Amino acid sequence: MNCPVYVIVGAGQAGANAAAELRRQGFDGRVLLLGDEPHVPYERPPLSKDALLRPEQTRCAVHAEGFYDQHEIELILDVSVIALDRQARTAMLSNGESLAYDKLLLATGARVRRLPLLDALGANVHTLRTIDDARKLTSELRPGRRILLVGAGVIGLELASTAVDLGAHVTVIEAAPSAMGRCSPSLLSQFLCDVHRRRGVALHFDATLAAVARENGEIVLKLQDGTRIVGDAVIYGIGVEPHTWLAEAAGLAVDNGIMIDTQCRTSDPRIYAAGDVASRHDAASGRHLRRETWENAQNQGIAAARSMLGLSPEAEAAPWFWTDQCGFNVQFVGDMSAPNWIVRGQLDTPPCVLFGLDEQGVLIGAITVNLGRDMRSARELVDRRAKIPPEVLLDPRQALRALVKAV
Ligand code: FAD
Ligand code: NAP
Repeated sequence: MNCPVYVIVGAGQAGANAAAELRRQGFDGRVLLLGDEPHVPYERPPLSKDALLRPEQTRCAVHAEGFYDQHEIELILDVSVIALDRQARTAMLSNGESLAYDKLLLATGARVRRLPLLDALGANVHTLRTIDDARKLTSELRPGRRILLVGAGVIGLELASTAVDLGAHVTVIEAAPSAMGRCSPSLLSQFLCDVHRRRGVALHFDATLAAVARENGEIVLKLQDGTRIVGDAVIYGIGVEPHTWLAEAAGLAVDNGIMIDTQCRTSDPRIYAAGDVASRHDAASGRHLRRETWENAQNQGIAAARSMLGLSPEAEAAPWFWTDQCGFNVQFVGDMSAPNWIVRGQLDTPPCVLFGLDEQGVLIGAITVNLGRDMRSARELVDRRAKIPPEVLLDPRQALRALVKAV
């Protein structure tokens, strides 16, 4: 009998976890994990945080050394998959080879959205997605350097925190009226901005770049309202674009991500997708949703591997992610666009928990600030769509664990 070949394109969080899950479930065919970066699969969250602050002590690898050999996962690095022939079931590689597959997983992630206006400046302009990008940043984030951060998303705020810790002077320029607007309620964004300002960060909102220049070795950013901001280096983080071109060229259904069903199957029954690149059908809302978080990449990689083996995926929990900045560990679960937010404790003196309620008073989102131990219970309450009177939720004598038991 022929040995089945499963090919995984993209050796990131989703791809590496999918490969591991195939073996965990006893798949004994060939597993090929291909990545276009020269590094063994690594986790990206430390890149804006500990990998810059404590590079020597920070470990980023997804799996321990020797894992891939031990589990007979054929790791092929520094090679891109440049085309798929779905009829012939082959993947063409940038080194001229082609690989036949029985099933294929696209875990190609996302790439930084470019700002040509800034790229044109050349030296001292950076973005952050890869471990190589992070290495380049270490020479910029030094005491006294004036760092201009364009974009106040999670990358912008985490880098603002790290840069200040490393002694740099930081200015943040954001086109929108608030920080982390896509993933945080305004109450929390406001709190985080206040903390950054107290640490000396200058924040400009509703600020659009009109022109950029290099004058006498300095970088000058001119805003549309006439403001001039001068610095030594620029780092921009204005979002990412899913790496869908391979899927599009192969004729798969794509709409802001490779469209997959609840079992990670694309419009080709032999091809699956997972992670930042995938837009998954959500049974509850009837919509396709693409998420850009570590946990989603990990869980969807595992779910895709199970699905490739004909196993059903685990039940989906409410989405969760975290950020670490300015000494605060902030964890988010559920729907951050909840219309009503209430705070258990004092937001200006954490630890505290924020609860997001819908119009009917159902708990649909929660955020812990320096209170990670409450996240598991908060998450269960959100998963169960608990309806608990606000005065009970806000009463510090009512342990969240006990509330879980009561609903
Ligand atoms: P990626 O990690 O992007 O991996 C995809 C891989 O596929 C890449 O190596 C890519 O180069 C490769 N590839 C693409 N196309 C091809 C091809 N044709 N052939 C071969 N290889 C290809 N999330 C959180 O929840 N919390 C955090 O604190 C957090 N911090 C972050 C900090 C930073 C600096 C960044 C950049 C992200 C952070 N994230 C965080 C987000 C999280 O890291 C991502 O959601 C996650 O990495 C997505 O994993 P992925 O495997 O889908 O994609
Ligand atoms: P992001 O969270 O999407 O934030 C980008 C920000 O830049 C948004 O506020 C956006 O505003 C703004 N922006 C867009 N165009 C702009 C312009 N021309 N000038 C100034 N601001 C502009 O993306 P990111 O911070 O770049 O992060 C990149 C990826 O890394 C994301 O996938 C993110 O999830 C991931 N990441 C996650 C974490 C975490 O979860 N802790 C940490 C770091 C990175 P609009 O929303 O109005 O467009």
